[in-house]
Amino acid sequence: MNVACPNCKSKVDSKDIKNINKKGIFIEKQCPSCRGWFGLNKTQEVLKTAGILLLLITSLLNIFSINSEYSLVFSTIGFVGIFIAIIITFFGKHETVK
Ligand SMILES: [Zn+2]
Repeated sequence: MNVACPNCKSKVDSKDIKNINKKGIFIEKQCPSCRGWFGLNKTQEVLKTAGILLLLITSLLNIFSINSEYSLVFSTIGFVGIFIAIIITFFGKHETVK
């Protein structure tokens, strides 16, 4: 997967990113060509995490058949959540970390 570095505008293969800095749910990556740090837009990072959590929670509810009359609703919510997470993973905007 290629990521466009917001600092030097070069296309970076995510395999080439060696330095990753985790700050809670926010992940900062160091560009291998310009050594600048960048990360996903914070709003998008929060949405992505929320989407994954939605899938997790709704799947767990379905597995344990909690309120099973809503299982279709839970599956739909979970699907929307993971869909948002995937969209952001592939099309999310990266910005420079100050
Ligand atoms: Zn760069």
